[in-house]
Amino acid sequence: MNDPRYASDSCDLDGLRRWLKARPERLVPLTIRRIVISPNALDELAERASEAMVNRSTCYVIMDRTPMWRNGVLIKPEVVARLRSKLGGVSVIELGEADHPPHADFDVAKDMSARLEPGSLVVTFGSGTITDLAKHAMFWIEKDGGARFEHICCPTACTVTAFTASMTVLTVDGVKRTIRSRSPEQILVDLLMIRDAPVELTRAGVGDLLARCTAYGDWFLGDVFGVDETFNTVPFDLLAGPEERLLGCAAAIGRREIEGLRSLADALMLAGIGMSIVDQTTPISGWEHVISHYLDLRAMAAGRPTGLHGAQVGAGTLIAAVAFEDLLSVGETICRRIQPRFDVGAARRSIEEHFKPFDADGGMIQELWREYGLKADRIAAGLTRWSRVVEGWRSGYIADQLNRYVRPAKVVVKALAEARAESDLAASSGTNDRILAREAVLYGHKVRSRFTLGDVLELFGLLTPTAADRWLTGPDAWGGFCPPNGW
Ligand SMILES: [Zn+2]
Repeated sequence: MNDPRYASDSCDLDGLRRWLKARPERLVPLTIRRIVISPNALDELAERASEAMVNRSTCYVIMDRTPMWRNGVLIKPEVVARLRSKLGGVSVIELGEADHPPHADFDVAKDMSARLEPGSLVVTFGSGTITDLAKHAMFWIEKDGGARFEHICCPTACTVTAFTASMTVLTVDGVKRTIRSRSPEQILVDLLMIRDAPVELTRAGVGDLLARCTAYGDWFLGDVFGVDETFNTVPFDLLAGPEERLLGCAAAIGRREIEGLRSLADALMLAGIGMSIVDQTTPISGWEHVISHYLDLRAMAAGRPTGLHGAQVGAGTLIAAVAFEDLLSVGETICRRIQPRFDVGAARRSIEEHFKPFDADGGMIQELWREYGLKADRIAAGLTRWSRVVEGWRSGYIADQLNRYVRPAKVVVKALAEARAESDLAASSGTNDRILAREAVLYGHKVRSRFTLGDVLELFGLLTPTAADRWLTGPDAWGGFCPPNGW
């Protein structure tokens, strides 16, 4: 049998289109036309912009006000100067303040959409927040019938998968939400820019990608529990190669070597594409992501800056990897002994009780229930076919598949250590607050409609403060799993 894995890289878009076309699954067409990953990709920007300006009158450059250096040069004025000398007029939109970068907020994207001329060329020069805000401002205009934009995206740090993803993450009523949006047409990843970015951003990029080590297990569980019928293996096969390369060069990324950074950038590009072709983030966003979203929610409610997304996700992935090992060791026994129940009313009360102190005007609980309520109904419906889950455990099918989709915790902890990325959830949030970290583990699955390992652990009675503390303690505490009383 042929190897189903994608064997080339993200820059080979023709090869990627051929690979996708050969798959039998129904996929969303790829609209990205060019990806360049090279030490001097920015040298191409003015030429690409000039080509894209045919039949367009306006070029915007969207960036924040944080000064950035590349190879010893203050790069933002340089980028604008190069574009101006090639194109003539360029409108610069700067967001936030030098010491207060903008938030990826729904209203900020709305404001931006009022400033953009439909059908223009938009160059984003920034990280995930700038990219997501611009993507969504353009998406709104196009959705209302405005002429199609050309978006050239220049990442200034390899932190998140936003650069190639057709969805954005924006804050709505104090809760981060993933919303369908649009992909850029061209992405120019300049590796000297990435090398000179703050190293914690690069490490966060590794953390965000490590979600791949566990998130596919979450998606598979959604299928097994009858909650999510969209499961397929296309993104798994697409990302298998980049994941191997990333794990193999985590130390080189930690040292900011160009070849390591190339693998990181390539993996991020393909991860964004992997989500876009199935029109959802599930292939690389499971329990570890909702744990991170919970931490963001608490930070925003307290009026303090959020921790780095990728740092929180990397530390969350480690917790998920350990918890998957617990599930694998007791899943079959639990299935034989209990028939889980799910009380939708009790779930609603639990959300109201836990989140009330953080909800200034009632909008947050409403927004949370709008999403979780959908999941609650699906979980309750899925449990009516419980015998299917029991049979899956008994036959060994569920364990086999989880072993295929989920990496052991020791692999995750090694990659985090080699990349010098954060592995402690409390530290990754920027607070060192262990009680907050424990609450993120216990309540993270309640902030999204995504069915995750957290939901399964709760159904199985395994999501307890004791278990959370053990997962949070680190490798020394992981052995000797003791099942809770009562099953
Ligand atoms: Zn992420």
